[in-house]
Amino acid sequence: YYNENSILYLDGKWVKAAEAKVDLYSQTMHHGNGVFEGIRSYGSAAGPNIFRAKQHFERLKYSAERMAIKFPYSVDELVKIAYELIEKNNIDNAYIRPLIYLGANMKLITCGETHIMMAAWEWPPYLGDEALKVMISSYQRPNPKSIPIDAKVTGNYTNSILATNEAKKNGFDEALLLDSDGYVSEGSGQNFFYVKDGVIYTPPLGNILPGITRATIIEYAMELGYPVVEKLFVPEDMRGAEVAFFTGTATEIASIASIDDMEFKKDWKETIAYELFQMYRARVTNEELSESAVG
Ligand code: PMP
Repeated sequence: YYNENSILYLDGKWVKAAEAKVDLYSQTMHHGNGVFEGIRSYGSAAGPNIFRAKQHFERLKYSAERMAIKFPYSVDELVKIAYELIEKNNIDNAYIRPLIYLGANMKLITCGETHIMMAAWEWPPYLGDEALKVMISSYQRPNPKSIPIDAKVTGNYTNSILATNEAKKNGFDEALLLDSDGYVSEGSGQNFFYVKDGVIYTPPLGNILPGITRATIIEYAMELGYPVVEKLFVPEDMRGAEVAFFTGTATEIASIASIDDMEFKKDWKETIAYELFQMYRARVTNEELSESAVG
């Protein structure tokens, strides 16, 4: 993600990544009070398309509000900066990372100056058809009464890191986390779906990050006439499912081969999930261009 020629946006200026400095007493570094986004741009015949740019920056603003972090930026201005950023770095297929972080402070209350940085790096579209081996994590997703789980707060990701470490250590590719009541919630950085008897199921909002890809996939499924049910379920409810998959900006739509000892045997290319993935890939590179070009 980093090379010496990367240019990033930092508090109103364009700076070389190698020359950008951060205060080591930043509250974000010590106590995890910062908010961020993960955004993708796709090359298309008409130029780069930042997929659902406005929604991502709106979520960034919402995340900041949840942590009482000042957000002195407009969403439209941030969309414009994101386009300038990929242009300056000369990349079309990019991952874009805005981060709002706080200045020096050791108090356990939101304070210190608000800073913004935005970086981008090359990220080719996901091509892997390799289905993931997933484990049910022994780590729970934090209870939303403890932490704003619907916001992208830097500190929330220590939970994701623990779950991924555990999954990899046990020979799995990814973790699926349950909420504090034992219902399926989401992956370390992805939302979760499964399909059984032609019905698409996904956990409701509440104990998950409201994923932009999740909302997109629900929208597309409804457009195709597939029933989508948002409800709480336990791992055992998935037994006999045709397919399970993760969604996320970075992940796009990733098929799942198994969850613990439960295998999903249907040929990926024969599933509703694959049809949705194809639709997603077509639209991120073409049809939404006009929508996101205006922000
Ligand atoms: N859940 C978590 C915990 C995430 O970090 C992400 C990635 N932002 C997602 C779900 C997927 O969200 P999106 O589709 O908006 O990228």
